[in-house]
Amino acid sequence: MTIETTKPLILIVDDTPTNIQVLAENLIQDYRVKVAASGEAALEAIARQGLPDLILLDVMMPDMDGYELCRRLKNDPQTSAIPVIFVTALNGGGDEERGLNLGALDYITKPFYLPVVKARIRNHIRLKQMADRLEAMAWIDGLTDVPNRRRFDQMLEIEWKRAQRSHFPLAMIMVDVDYFKAYNDCYGHGAGDTCLKQVAALLSAMVSRPCDLVARYGGEEFVILMPETDIDGARRVAEQLRLRIESEQMSHAGSGVSCWVTISVGYAAMTPGQDQMPSALLDEADRMLYRAKNSGRNCTRG
Ligand code: GH3
Ligand code: MG
Ligand code: MG
Repeated sequence: MTIETTKPLILIVDDTPTNIQVLAENLIQDYRVKVAASGEAALEAIARQGLPDLILLDVMMPDMDGYELCRRLKNDPQTSAIPVIFVTALNGGGDEERGLNLGALDYITKPFYLPVVKARIRNHIRLKQMADRLEAMAWIDGLTDVPNRRRFDQMLEIEWKRAQRSHFPLAMIMVDVDYFKAYNDCYGHGAGDTCLKQVAALLSAMVSRPCDLVARYGGEEFVILMPETDIDGARRVAEQLRLRIESEQMSHAGSGVSCWVTISVGYAAMTPGQDQMPSALLDEADRMLYRAKNSGRNCTRG
């Protein structure tokens, strides 16, 4: 995905050095440009150096031709969203049709008029960046800016399968803000929103391993997924989170357990069996959260 502060990355795939040179020289000002002299080299560059924002693809190449490379890219979910533009000397209508039917976005015939090529590239890159932004937004909670329930469900599925293969435990922590209805009643819904943002930021800052995921599960509930973590690890993190929120000393006059905002926390860890479903872990963490609530709140259970 494109990071907005860096220039978009274009991969040029062409076996003829002069073609590459002319194009690359003209694009280097506005884009980062990588070149590959064959289909195989292109696949390798993508695997090792990350996904480009656009591929300019020659059709006629020895071994793997442009059509074949395009077909492979479009069949792989990892690469299928990369826009492909064919740049080629072939100009029969049938060739163009074939390229577009393979999923290419556009078709530019050689010899080309550079200003037009550059304008087309600019338009396609803009569309790609818009699509990337929408894609990223679909996974992020609009209020708190942390991953949303949809993202969590997806990651739980992925990490559950990984844990089934590796036989490492997978841990989950469920967090629920105590007496949050009373918080809204006391300070107003806007202040409630601000409080949720703050809780989300504090939880995210505490959970630091790159493979851990903090997500908003819904309402004033958050969930943390921690691969390769056993119940002792989960307990430690759960207690750290609880302490961290309490020590922030956010006033909560409506709370029945403290004068600050506090959380109740349920945690669980499992090494999933082959026939177990991810809901087993979710249900257990939820059960433990319920127990924490029943034990008086502002505590952890697991
Ligand atoms: P408990 O200690 O048992 O968890 O009590 P509680 O009041 O926190 O739980 P309850 O489920 O009764 O109420 C949750 C409240 O959270 C009610 C709802 O209005 C509030 N809430 C949920 N989502 C949001 C939100 O996005 N913004 C704000 N401000 N409030 C929210
Ligand atoms: Mg709740
Ligand atoms: Mg609550």
